[in-house]
Amino acid sequence: EEANNNNESPYISSVLPGWFSEISPLWPGEAHSLKVEKILFQGKSDYQNVMVFQSSTYGKVLVLDGVIQLTERDECAYQEMITHLPLCSIPNPRKVLVIGGGDGGVLREVSRHSSVEQIDICEIDKMVIDVAKQFFPNVAIGYEDPRVKLHVGDGVAFLKNVPEGTYDAVIVDSSDPIGPAQELFEKPFFETVARALRPGGVVCTQAESIWLHMDIIEHIVANCRQIFKGSVNYAWTTVPTYPSGVIGFMLCSTEGPSLDFKNPTNPIDADDSHTKTRGPLKFYNSEIHSASFCLPSFAKRVIESK
Ligand code: SAM
Repeated sequence: EEANNNNESPYISSVLPGWFSEISPLWPGEAHSLKVEKILFQGKSDYQNVMVFQSSTYGKVLVLDGVIQLTERDECAYQEMITHLPLCSIPNPRKVLVIGGGDGGVLREVSRHSSVEQIDICEIDKMVIDVAKQFFPNVAIGYEDPRVKLHVGDGVAFLKNVPEGTYDAVIVDSSDPIGPAQELFEKPFFETVARALRPGGVVCTQAESIWLHMDIIEHIVANCRQIFKGSVNYAWTTVPTYPSGVIGFMLCSTEGPSLDFKNPTNPIDADDSHTKTRGPLKFYNSEIHSASFCLPSFAKRVIESK
């Protein structure tokens, strides 16, 4: 009994050597850990520290500035949801812009939509793209689609130069609001996104965790309700290797044809024309699409009051 209550308890120190622990001021007092088999890459780009390791239970893991971006095992839950929630909510998406998302996973998912003619991506960090191509071929396969046009640069600057009304959908697959992605969570950025969308166009942004970041979410929702005059909704999914195990998305539309995010009008479940090259959808379906907008009461109170 006594042994378990002092600082020499084997349960406290013995798990750390050989494990990756995700420590950040964005989730103080907790640190999800994965057992490391081998470190495969470590580098420092102009923007961030980049690391890839082989974990013992989640496949290869991509880490930026100490924060897990994706693992081979659960990336589907994120990439499929952030992509198909917006694209299945509008008929015939044709022009799509991805901000961030350098790993290529969102591109892979966008390219399942046969109505899409043009896929622009603006990722700030070339090292992320190169590392994804080297270590995550099943994710970076998204770059192989001829509709994809890559722009390496800051998404904020890129959007400022986009002519008004260009895109049917903008997907913001960003890292957390510390470091290069900070501006992607602020009001002026959302204003440029709204300008770049055609009437009734949609945006889906990575919008953090209801367990950890209600303050950030509250702020995003309040801004979006001011800027987007169509629908504004919050959805969420489970991603075991993200802090708290869940991640949310802010979905908004500009004024135009009425749009109900909760009922997908452009279902992709039956479209398996890309299954041969990309594999079947692992996570997304129309039922989980609708379910992802159901919120726990504590989150619903805050989000609906904004
Ligand atoms: N797709 C990943 C997943 O499965 O979870 C998630 C994150 S993705 C790797 C986030 C990307 O956003 C990073 O590659 C980062 O370099 C990029 N990024 C951050 N700030 C940016 C900015 N201002 N403009 C463009 N890209 C940015």
